Amino acid sequence: MSTEAPLYRHQVLFLSQSFFIKDNRAELLLHAHKYDFDIRFFSEVAEFTAAVAADRGASLFVIDLDALHNMQADLHDSRKTLMLGELLERLPREHAYVYLQSGRQGSRFLLQQRLVDSNCLAYAEKPIANDVLVDKLFNLFVRTKRGDLVSVVHLGPPGDLDTAALLAQQVEVVHHPDPTTLHLRVKELQPDLVVIADDEYRRLDALARVMKKNIEADPVREIVLLQRRPDEALARRALGDGFDTVLQATAGLVEAQLANRAARIRVSKDLIGKDRATGLLNKVGLQRKTQDLIRQATLEDKPLAFGVIDIDKFKTINDTWGHHFGDIVIKRLCLCLAPQMGERDLLARFGGEEFVLVFWDCTPDEAWRRLDALRQAFGAIEFQVARGDLRRFSFSGGLAAFPEHRSENALFLRADAMLYTAKESGRNRICPT
Ligand code: GH3
Ligand code: MG
Ligand code: MG
Repeated sequence: MSTEAPLYRHQVLFLSQSFFIKDNRAELLLHAHKYDFDIRFFSEVAEFTAAVAADRGASLFVIDLDALHNMQADLHDSRKTLMLGELLERLPREHAYVYLQSGRQGSRFLLQQRLVDSNCLAYAEKPIANDVLVDKLFNLFVRTKRGDLVSVVHLGPPGDLDTAALLAQQVEVVHHPDPTTLHLRVKELQPDLVVIADDEYRRLDALARVMKKNIEADPVREIVLLQRRPDEALARRALGDGFDTVLQATAGLVEAQLANRAARIRVSKDLIGKDRATGLLNKVGLQRKTQDLIRQATLEDKPLAFGVIDIDKFKTINDTWGHHFGDIVIKRLCLCLAPQMGERDLLARFGGEEFVLVFWDCTPDEAWRRLDALRQAFGAIEFQVARGDLRRFSFSGGLAAFPEHRSENALFLRADAMLYTAKESGRNRICPT
C-alpha cells in the first residue's frame, strides 16, 4: 500500500505494562482505527518519555498507572506514592496526560488530587472496556482541536462585546442593528448563538419568541440576554419569553462565558454531524451544510455542483481481503479526496463507501473535470494486498447542478440517478448532470 500520508489523523502514545499490551493491542487498535487514530505502545518509561518529548503533533499521551509496577523493579523501591512521584517527575512538563488508574487508586482522595494536579488532561478508572476507552479518547481529540468557527448574531451596542477577543477563540460576531429584522438575519446566517442586549428586549419583548417559534429554527441555537445591570424580574421574564440564558455584561467575563458555550456547541456539532472514522461530514452534517450553501449560492447567485460517488465492487474487496482492508481502502479514498476540496466545498461520507462532494461556484463542465480527475487519482493508488500483489480500485460517480435542481433532496436524487447510470454503463466513470 502506498504510504504518502499517514492513514490516521491522530495518534496516541500509550505507556502500559507489557502483558496488558500483548493481550489488548489488536482489539484496541481495531477500535482506534474506526475513530481515525493510531496507537503506539510503550512498556518502558524511558522510551515513552523520549517519544513524548519528540512529538510535534497533537497526540494524546496515555499512562496506565499499573506501569508503576514496572518502575518498582527499576528502582528497587517499594513506597508506592514515591514511585508515582518519580513517574510524574520524569514526564515532560509541557504536555498533559491521560491517566488510567485502578478503582482503588481513585478512592484515595490525596492520590487523586495529586494526579489531577500533575499535568492531567483527564483520568479514567479501570477496568475500562477497550471500546469505551477509545470513545473517550476520541472525545478528547474533539475537545482539544481548534475546530470550526462558531457564529453569533448580536443585537445591541457594538461595544458590548469584544469581537477581536472572541474571534481569537474561533467565535465570529456579526452585529445587527435593527430589532425588527433580527429574525430575518438569523434565518439568513443561521448562527449558533443570538445575543440580545437588555435594552432591546425591554423595547420589543417578542424578539426571542419570534425566533423560537419558527418551526425551522435550529433547536440547538441558544438565545442569550445580555444584562447591563442585574435585574431579576427582567431575567425571569426573559426566560419565560424564549431566552435560554441570561449573562451579565461584564467586560471580559461575558466573552469568556460565550467562548465556553461556543466550545460546547462546537463539540456537540462535531459529535452529531461528523463521521468518526474519517472526520468528514456525515449525513446529518451534510444536510445542514448543504442547506447553508444553497442559501449562500442563492444570495450570491453562484452555481453549485453536487456529486455522489461509490466505490466499485466493494463487496468483493471486503469478501476477498477482509473488512479491515475494506476500511483502509475507504480511508485512502478520503485522503485522496480531502486535499482537493476548496474552502467552501463540502465533503461527506454519506454511507459505507459512498461519498458526497459539493463544489462551490462550479459549472457542470468544471465539476465533471474535477470529479473525473479525482477518479483517475484514486484509480492510480496501488494497494498491496499480498507480497508482490498490487491492486487498484475504482469508483463511479454522478453529478447534479444547482440552480437546475434547487433543493438538497432534488440534487441528491439526480446525482444518485446519474451514479446508477454510471454503474450500469460499466463503472469507473462519472456521469454528468
Ligand atoms: P457496486 O460497484 O455496484 O457499488 O458494487 P458494491 O459491491 O460496491 O455494492 P454496494 O455499493 O451495494 O456495496 C457496499 C458494501 O460495502 C456493502 C457493505 O457490506 C460494505 N460496507 C458498508 N460500510 C462499510 C464500512 O464502513 N467498511 C467496510 N469494510 N465495508 C463496508
Ligand atoms: Mg454503495
Ligand atoms: Mg459500491
